[in-house]
Amino acid sequence: MRYIITLAIASTPAFAEVPKVVTDIPPVDALVAQVMGDLGQPELLLTKGADEHDFQLRPSQAGAVAGSDLVVWIGPELTPWLESAMQNRPEGAASIGLLDAEETMLRGYGEDVGAGDHDEAGQDGAGQDGAGQDDRADGDTDPHAWMNPDNAQRWLGLIAAELSRLDPENAATYAANALAASERLVTLDNEIAAMLAPVQGKPIVTFHDAYGYFAAHYGLKLYGSIALGDAASPGALRLKELRKTMESGGVLCIFPEAQYDSALVLQMAEGTGARVGGTLDPVGSTLEAGPGAYDAFLKGMAQTIADCVQG
Ligand SMILES: [Zn+2]
Repeated sequence: MRYIITLAIASTPAFAEVPKVVTDIPPVDALVAQVMGDLGQPELLLTKGADEHDFQLRPSQAGAVAGSDLVVWIGPELTPWLESAMQNRPEGAASIGLLDAEETMLRGYGEDVGAGDHDEAGQDGAGQDGAGQDDRADGDTDPHAWMNPDNAQRWLGLIAAELSRLDPENAATYAANALAASERLVTLDNEIAAMLAPVQGKPIVTFHDAYGYFAAHYGLKLYGSIALGDAASPGALRLKELRKTMESGGVLCIFPEAQYDSALVLQMAEGTGARVGGTLDPVGSTLEAGPGAYDAFLKGMAQTIADCVQG
């Protein structure tokens, strides 16, 4: 009897705990949360309402990064504020830099937005005219890769594989959770494609240049943006050019963003005939964090765009 008890204890060593996972932004956090399921939940760093490009970790958050078993993040191109905290982790500590993963489909800023790579979206005519993009580093990797649900799809597998490597006892659960999440994502993608079908090719302007992946996937026509992709302050020349296009009636809708004052957007739209749409939230920072945040983020964005363009 004693022998059996000893064996049972030995087979569940104290260190076989579910990994402590830290994530950078809500969409990534949601994917990790779906894969972890009931086993645990990741710690999300980006505070509600904060700007993904410009954020400062609280000391407790920096501590959580240092003590984590796994960090899942987009990469230093998006969140330079996380890079230095990562350096306080022990050598060889696990992390997934999603932009670096070979599974990730990347695009560059200023790259042509094609006809939509969503399976059922086969129309042409959506191209990026590139108004006022003079001062941007065209061709730099656009880090907003979570905007393409095909990337989210691939990341589910990556996350499950890494969690299984760190926690082999729960590998079957991670795999099953990732599979279920992947199936939900296919449904979501089709729903959104249908929602956006009437909006394809209709020119819109956004606040910051974060929507290239989304536009490419669903065949939207992004005319331009007020601020650059890293949400840098907009240049006067770029605003002047954008305003000129808007005055010629070439833009249907312009959208403010959750993290920024809408004054500039209202000012740009005034007297141009472009409608001011609802507030977009390209990083999901106004949402309740958790497994449902990816769906809510993508659907909310699509709905806001469709509502204004069809309005
Ligand atoms: Zn951004």
